[in-house]
Amino acid sequence: MENIKNKIIEVCQRLHDRNLLAAADGNVSVKENDQTIWITPTGQTKAFMNNQELAQITQDNKIISGTPSSERKLHLAIYRNCPTAKAVVHAHPPHAIAWSLAFGDLKELPYKSLPEVILATGKIPIVPYARPGSDEMGDNLSPFLPDHKVLIMQKHGAVAWGETLDEAYRGIERVEHISYILKLAIELKNSKMNLEELPADEIKELFELRTQIGNYNL
Ligand SMILES: [Zn+2]
Repeated sequence: MENIKNKIIEVCQRLHDRNLLAAADGNVSVKENDQTIWITPTGQTKAFMNNQELAQITQDNKIISGTPSSERKLHLAIYRNCPTAKAVVHAHPPHAIAWSLAFGDLKELPYKSLPEVILATGKIPIVPYARPGSDEMGDNLSPFLPDHKVLIMQKHGAVAWGETLDEAYRGIERVEHISYILKLAIELKNSKMNLEELPADEIKELFELRTQIGNYNL
């Protein structure tokens, strides 16, 4: 049990360190069994949490201890619809959210350019908007479960589940990385490649210098 709790704290810190959430955003849970789901508390900064603050709820939303996240229905919908789910991570990855803001009609993240998306996550749906903390958060997600393990929540964030907490965390890291690559590619393509180059004679001399230096230590 202490192991599970410490691992949740570690994942919260990693989410914050990697800019996948800010301040008290997001929530993380692990299902120990049907009667015990450990979940992050409401309103606590993820970077400075300790394991005494974690709350405990049941699959049918009874609070056993602590003050669980107001977004717990999102987690419970996943555990209800996905029998193999053992952990859920909800975060606010900036580039993933930006895709849902910039293109309101988008039903899924563009996936046809990157083989890693198809192989690792399959399609990543953009789930219709629901007010944070509302029942709709879980209701809107349910039609996409259990088929999808990584999902963007329109105008809000992303959620991933896994058979381990590491897997759920990796889902969030992956959706942000994919969203970032796609954004960079579009920006570069639209930039007309107008980088300022060094003067031609400087380039020539640098190549000569490179030859003199020999095997440059990278
Ligand atoms: Zn949120």
